[in-house]
Order: sequence, then C-alpha cells, then structure tokens
Amino acid sequence: MHPFTYTRASDVPEAIAAGRRGGRYIAGGTTLVDLMREGVERPETVVDISGLPLRDVVATERGGLRIGALVTMAEAAAHPKVRALFPVVSEALELSASAQLRNMASIGGNIMQRTRCPYFRDPTAACNKRDPGAGCAARGGFNRGHAILGASDSCVATHCSDVAVAFAALEATVRLLGPDGRRQVPIAEFLLRPKTSPDREHDIGDGELITAIELPALPRPLQSGYLKVRDRQSYEFALTSAAVALHVHGGVIRTAKVAAGGVGTVPWKLPAVEEHLVGERPSQSLWATAAAKSADGASPLQHNRFKVELLKRTVERQLRIVGGTE
Ligand code: SF4
Repeated sequence: MHPFTYTRASDVPEAIAAGRRGGRYIAGGTTLVDLMREGVERPETVVDISGLPLRDVVATERGGLRIGALVTMAEAAAHPKVRALFPVVSEALELSASAQLRNMASIGGNIMQRTRCPYFRDPTAACNKRDPGAGCAARGGFNRGHAILGASDSCVATHCSDVAVAFAALEATVRLLGPDGRRQVPIAEFLLRPKTSPDREHDIGDGELITAIELPALPRPLQSGYLKVRDRQSYEFALTSAAVALHVHGGVIRTAKVAAGGVGTVPWKLPAVEEHLVGERPSQSLWATAAAKSADGASPLQHNRFKVELLKRTVERQLRIVGGTE
C-alpha cells in the first residue's frame, strides 16, 4: 500500500481545513481502504471523520427526514422513522452489501462509493475513471454488468449504490458544508454522469463534507419499496433494481416516484414512467404500459442487452408490489 498520513478530525472545521489541504475523508472505510490496498487510490493524507457529530436522524419541519452522513447503513435501515416514512430506503439498505459492511459503512460514504467495474479495480487495465485519457477496457471487454443508460464514449460503468436509487426516486437533497459555507444539492445533480470526465463523479469541492441526506415531505399515505435483481440473493450488486413510491388518493395515483439501479451510470430517475402513472387508476395494464417506458433511450453493449427487458420487468413487478395488485 502507498504510504499515507492518518489524521483524526475532532470537529467539523478541522475536517474541512484538512480536506481543503487535499486530505481524503474516511468514515467506515469500506470503499477507500479496499481501493488503497489494490493501489487504485493513493491518497497522501487520510482524514478520519468518524468522530464527527453527524449521526442523527431527525424529522424536518417540512415533514421530511434528515439522515446524518455518519449514520451507518444498518442504523438507518433499522431506524423507526425511516422504516415508517420511507420503507424504500430501509429495503434498499437491507439489500445492500453484507451485515458486517452495513454495520461499518456510512450513508454519506455509501453515495460516494466508487464503481465496481472490474477494470477500474485492476491497475493493469485501461480506465479513464482511474487514469484520465487511458481509454476504457470495458467497452471492448466483458461488459455484462455495465450501464445501458447514461454512458459516454469515455465510461460505461454503473453507479452501484442501492440506497442512492431510493434517494433518486424520492428526490433527496445532499447537504454539504465546506470552506464557502453550506450548500444543498439535489442528488440528481450531485452524482455526475461520466461524459468526457468520468474521473469526476460528484459535485463536491475540496474540503466540502456531506453532512446529511434530506428526504422531502411527500403526500401521505405513501407506499414504497425496493426490488433488486442480481445473480445471487445476498452480497451482490444489482443487475437491475427499482425504487417505487406511490401516493394513491380516491383510487387515483396522485404522486409517483420511480428510479432504477444497476442500469445507469448514475441512479436512473424514470420521469416518463412517473408521468404515465399520475392521474391514472392502478391496474395490471397500467403497470405494464408504464414499465415499458423504463428503458427509453437505452444503449446496450455487447454483453448486457438482456438488461433492457430485465429492467422493464423489474419496474413492472415493483409497481405491482407497491401498487397492491400483486
Ligand atoms: Fe474505467 Fe469506466 Fe471503462 Fe470501467 S467503464 S474501465 S470504470 S472508464
């Protein structure tokens, strides 16, 4: 492993100052330590932020929920407010990683985690994300797990967080604190598509720290849930997934929030599906016609064409489950 300096921040200003000097933040360490061992990440300074007071889950004045960035995945999944208000978040977390990792990994770190593209993690392979300008070994290589939506000539890697898919569906915002003060960024803008710079993955500056994820107030009652399709039933990343939240009043869908995972270079919001649902009455045929729009714009690679149909079926199945017709 590349030699590095370890420091532990005792408060938020100290962490921001260290981050501004180029330090890399570490909390649970479940992504960064792996990548440092593999020689993919080589930070000069690692700043331990695990002791900072960012561990609360609180109801917001507006009726939403704010989850502190250092709340662990396990704590968030089990939290009574999260389970009651946003089961889609709990389910996405519980279907992620292993119990051991969920006990270590933080919510902020989870959305910052880096891709599982095997070429990214192989320092001998060409990878624009690891080494800008080097090329993309996945485009001509084995790309069964890669993206069918949001890819560029530079990179076709998927975003691998499950809970970020739930956050995207719900239109969560990322709260940041940095040298220039506070910012709130919609998660759809915080997670960047690769375009020509796949090495730049987040709208975050030097010294900026994620302090919390804020889930918005949504009309109640709200039914929600997360479905993940993968090669094995545990400790595996999604081939496809669907996060769905529906508010039905008077027999009519008034609000629909839908996003897909495992298919996009970022968690993939599905506005065409949402628009198709709102104002309609739940039915088997409605779920099917809405889900048919979920792969609009897909651009599959040599080995992942199956994801186009699998995505439609995943979304349809989850609409049926959440909509109460299964
Ligand atoms: Fe690297 Fe992205 Fe290509 Fe994977 S898909 S090899 S992460 S550039």
